[in-house]
Amino acid sequence: MLVSVTEMLQKARKEKYAVGQFNINNLEWTKAILLTAEECKSPVILGVSEGAGKYMTGYKTIVGMVNGMLESLNITVPVALHLDHGSYDGALAAMEAGFSSIMFDGSHYAIEENVAKTTELVNLAHSKGVSLEAEVGSIGGEEDGVVGAGEVADPAECKMIADLGIDILAAGIGNIHGKYPENWQGLNFDVLAEISEKTSPMPLVLHGGTGIPEEMIKKAISLGVSKINVNTECQLSFAEATRKYIEAGKDLEGKGFDPRKLLAPGFEAIKATVKEKMELFGSIGKA
Ligand SMILES: [Zn+2]
Repeated sequence: MLVSVTEMLQKARKEKYAVGQFNINNLEWTKAILLTAEECKSPVILGVSEGAGKYMTGYKTIVGMVNGMLESLNITVPVALHLDHGSYDGALAAMEAGFSSIMFDGSHYAIEENVAKTTELVNLAHSKGVSLEAEVGSIGGEEDGVVGAGEVADPAECKMIADLGIDILAAGIGNIHGKYPENWQGLNFDVLAEISEKTSPMPLVLHGGTGIPEEMIKKAISLGVSKINVNTECQLSFAEATRKYIEAGKDLEGKGFDPRKLLAPGFEAIKATVKEKMELFGSIGKA
């Protein structure tokens, strides 16, 4: 059965490890992540962006697929199905369909409107036993042409949003979505420490986990980051393994064109990436 992230992330924050959110795109992705979590006895969060939701034909399909797999694969570790960067309408739709956790991303609204919409959604989510992640807007960042500093949030605004009773908080601490530019200045630990101190014991979320050096990940976890989002890295490892298979001409040998064979190397590559992240985040054996 799907669970919210509340309990798993409070435990993670207390015991100083992080739970990975791995975004899914299809059946292979979902199966690879669930099997790895079970093998590693790690809690896990399946992330679904609104775009991936549409790709998989809608939230109901995803809820059906994930619930079916939890049963048929005998998954015993805690699993949350989480909407990633949800809009207001997307949050309502995903909750209605049976998601166990929602991120409402009001970071592009003015803080007053973000507060109003987050308040409404957190009340609705909690009435259904669903957890809510909220995000605070970043100061600076790409819009101002200062890409190297990444996304940085105002700790006072973080406290305002955290005080609304949300379960987890996403706040920019110099992180960037996708690949990191060469002039990246690294995570801003001064800001993270201030946010952490103002919002403690709220579990914090680190978005854009692909390409952050390991020591920075570990330090962020020690300062209260309890959920780390991984998306691009699984895509890169899947693509690389699939490319190797085709470049080696294996799809032309025997029944190598069978999708169950063609997609197998990518599937194994996702499993390896997920396991590597679970080791780094310290979530292995914590289920
Ligand atoms: Zn994100």
